[in-house]
Amino acid sequence: MKPYLLFLDRVHCIGCGDCPKVCGKYFTMHKNGKVKMKKMKIEDIQMLQINKSDIACGLRASKVCPAFVIHVFDAKTHKRIK
Ligand code: SF4
Repeated sequence: MKPYLLFLDRVHCIGCGDCPKVCGKYFTMHKNGKVKMKKMKIEDIQMLQINKSDIACGLRASKVCPAFVIHVFDAKTHKRIK
């Protein structure tokens, strides 16, 4: 199990397109106008285990998101990484 979780609430994504620009490794725009996590089934909530080396990517996406729907959590404690 990887130590961190990248979380996306697709329901409340407003489709601004900013997160793929700063974290293209994990996020891409979908044809329905909302973002999705790459290589994952489309679901309202998407969660992916990530390594420490990818925290920065997730946090960049989290910081630019105007809808506050992207978060990075410690997988064990479930504390949000800021
Ligand atoms: S930055 Fe937020 S609102 Fe914009 S596309 Fe990404 S998840 Fe959606």
